[in-house]
Amino acid sequence: MPGFRDIVGQTHIKNLLMRTAREGTASHAYLLAGEEKAGKTFIARIFAQALLCERRAESGEPCGQCPSCKKVMADAHPDVRTVVHEKEGSIRVSEIIEQLVDDAYLTPYAAERKIYIVPDAHLITRDAQNKLLKTLEEPPSYVTILLLATGTDAMLPTIKSRCVPLPLRPVPTQELYAFLRKQQGASEYKASLSARFARGNTGKAIAHASDPQFETNARAAMRLIETLRNVTVPETNKQMKAISSENATERETREEVLNIIRCLLRDLMVYKATGEKEHLILEEQEEYIRDTAATSTFRGLAETAEALRTARTRIEANVSPVYALELFFVKARDCLGGNT
Ligand SMILES: [Zn+2]
Repeated sequence: MPGFRDIVGQTHIKNLLMRTAREGTASHAYLLAGEEKAGKTFIARIFAQALLCERRAESGEPCGQCPSCKKVMADAHPDVRTVVHEKEGSIRVSEIIEQLVDDAYLTPYAAERKIYIVPDAHLITRDAQNKLLKTLEEPPSYVTILLLATGTDAMLPTIKSRCVPLPLRPVPTQELYAFLRKQQGASEYKASLSARFARGNTGKAIAHASDPQFETNARAAMRLIETLRNVTVPETNKQMKAISSENATERETREEVLNIIRCLLRDLMVYKATGEKEHLILEEQEEYIRDTAATSTFRGLAETAEALRTARTRIEANVSPVYALELFFVKARDCLGGNT
């Protein structure tokens, strides 16, 4: 069963939580902030396990074997509650009150602590945050609340100031690579490609490495990128379509391809600024990146990146992807120094 040792990167968080478990000094609230898929839930569960473990190691590592550990991992422990929400985009007052504020007054059922895990804490509405604040201000002694959020901008400063901040950091590419090779059994090439594209996000790295389509998409997108400067728009669109039709989930493939184009634009800027190839995500495309960086300007690259963001926003707003991308390709060709 997984323990702290299985968390990739995030040493600062691991050390703090292990020490806390070891010394039995849990605070009443923690705020884990990091991208989607970065591993917040995974870390929260291991911490909950460690706090409630019946045979915890001296290091603070949970045993993974006792009934308590097993129940926490299966999300079946009566004293570890995960707050769920009905609406996709918000956690409402009634949900916070029923599942957390009122529930917190009931003493633990089996353990000494009661732990609340709140995924998507950035979605808690303003009113619901005010209710939660009351619990954070005067928490029952046995309560620990783990707020998991992709961002903290929408959270009340008074909430944030009552939580121990645990910001997740991007995992170094080399560490992700080693993890994919050792723990996931990925090939050298796949591990390298997946790690670079994950941009420090463990969940994304795992998703890339375990997706049989990812390598194909990455190659196709890179081929498409090579032609961005010189082919006509209808041709580029045809290629884009060809990539999309290779599997069933057209939207996901398109997202992936656009992500790869975003990586390329980032590489072009980095290369243009530093002239160094060490930090390129698309290292196979070094020659193309060198040539393109030479024929384009910073302003042109920034405008292309902006056009890509606009295309994504339009697609999200249900504009036809073909049309939205056509506008992007025109902009890209103009800005990347194409000559047709
Ligand atoms: Zn245990």
